[in-house]
Amino acid sequence: MVTKVQFTVDTELSLRLHQQGVSAQDNFDSSITGRCRDGEFGIFYQMERLEHYGLTGVFFVDPMPALVYGPGVIARIVEPILKRGHEVQLHIHTEWLEFAQGHELCDLRGRNIADFPLDDQVRLLDQARALLMIAGAPEPTAFRAGNFGANDDTLRALSSIGVQYDSSFNPAFVSGECAINLPLDTPPFSQHLGVGIIPVSVIQDRPGNIRAVQLCALSAWEMRDALAHAAAYDWPCFTIVSHSFELLSRDRSKVNPIITRRFDGMCQAIAEHRKLEDAGFHRLVPRGKSSLQTLPANLVRTALRYGEQAVSRLRYEAGIASTFLINEVTTLESVVAI
Ligand SMILES: [Zn+2]
Repeated sequence: MVTKVQFTVDTELSLRLHQQGVSAQDNFDSSITGRCRDGEFGIFYQMERLEHYGLTGVFFVDPMPALVYGPGVIARIVEPILKRGHEVQLHIHTEWLEFAQGHELCDLRGRNIADFPLDDQVRLLDQARALLMIAGAPEPTAFRAGNFGANDDTLRALSSIGVQYDSSFNPAFVSGECAINLPLDTPPFSQHLGVGIIPVSVIQDRPGNIRAVQLCALSAWEMRDALAHAAAYDWPCFTIVSHSFELLSRDRSKVNPIITRRFDGMCQAIAEHRKLEDAGFHRLVPRGKSSLQTLPANLVRTALRYGEQAVSRLRYEAGIASTFLINEVTTLESVVAI
C-alpha cells in the first residue's frame, strides 16, 4: 500500500500586523504572497514548486479575517488555490473576533477555539465554514485549529456540523495548547467523538522526545528519513505542517534559503518514492492501522539539525557581524547541507 502524504499549509493573515495598523493589502502581501526584499515566497511560490514536482498541497485557510477586512480578501486566497488544483480546508484563529464589528459573534472572545463552550464552538465553526464557502471553497472535509488549540468539544462540534476529519491533534503540542484527550501514539483514521483523527506526524529526535513534522522544524535529512520510514512501515498517512509565511525569516524581511532548500528536498523525496503519494482530504479513503512505529532517534542527525538551526539564526535571522563569522557559518553550512 502507498502512504498518503499530506503537505498542509496553514494559510492565514497576521493579526499582529493588523494590530500594528498594517493595511489589508500589505498584510496579504506579507502573510499570503510572502513578499520580502528577496522576492515572493508565500503560497504562490509554494504551489509553483509543488507543481514542478507534480504534487498538490492542502491549504488550511483561516476565513476569520473576513469579519474585519470583508470577504473579498479570503476569496483572493481561495480562488487561486482551487484554480491550480490544490485543496482548501478550514482553519480558524478566533483571536480575530476581538476586532470584528457588527457581527453576531463579535461579542465572543478567546485565543483558541477550545476556550469556548461547546455551543459557541458549533456556532463559530459553522460560521467559519460559511465564510470559507462564501469565498468560493467547496464544503470543507477537514479542519485544523489555530495554535493546534482544539479540545474534545471541538471534535464534538465538528461532528455535529458534519466535518469528517480533524488535523488539530499534534502529539508534540499536548503539553501546550492542544487539549484533545488522546494518547500520543494515536494513529491516523482513529475515530474519536464522531470525527476521523489525522494527527500531525512526529519523529523522535532524542530518545523519549518527539518532534512535530513541520517544514521549519526538521532538517532536510530528518524529513527525508521520516518520509522513507513512513513508507517502509506502511503508514496510511504522513501529515506535514507548514505555513503560508514559513519560508521567510522570523521578521519576514527576507527569505530563508535553508527552508526553501528543505522545501524542494521534501518535494523531491515525495515525488521520487514509489510508495509515497501526495493526497488531500477530499478523496482520502480511511485505512486503519492499530499503531505506528515512530522514526527512532539518531543523535548525529539531530546534532546536525542543531547546526543547521545555528546557521539559520546567524545567517538569516541575526545578520552577520564579521568576516570571521561568515567563514565559520560557511563551514558549518557545508557540513549540515545534507
Ligand atoms: Zn494558524
